[in-house]
Amino acid sequence: MSERSDVTDTACAYRRTGIVPVGEAGGLKALTDREREVLLLLGTGLGNRRLASELGIAERTVKAHIARIANKLGQETRLQVAVVSVLSHAVLCGDPSCPCRHSALSPGAPRMSVA
Ligand SMILES: [Zn+2]
Repeated sequence: MSERSDVTDTACAYRRTGIVPVGEAGGLKALTDREREVLLLLGTGLGNRRLASELGIAERTVKAHIARIANKLGQETRLQVAVVSVLSHAVLCGDPSCPCRHSALSPGAPRMSVA
C-alpha cells in the first residue's frame, strides 16, 4: 500500500514531495555555536558575501559552514537549510529584544492570517 495514494494537487507540499523542512530531532544540538550563528544569519536570505561580512570570515568559509550545517541537519540544499533556519528562529535567536515576526511560524504558535 502506498502512503501517497491520497495525495492530490491540493495536498500539503511536504506530503506531496515527502520533504519536510525540519531536521532530525535534536539536529540543532549537533551544531557548534558558530554553526548555529551561521544558520541563524542564513535565515535572513542574505548572500554569502554579506554573511561573510557579518561574521567577519571569508566567503569560502561561509560556504563550508553551510555545507556542514546542511549535512548535520540532513538537508540537501542551501535553501532548505534557510527554511530550517526560519522555522527554528525562536530557538536559535538569543536576542531578548528580537523584533522579528518569525516566532509566528514556531510550532504551537497561532497560524498567520493570509487575509
Ligand atoms: Zn530573532
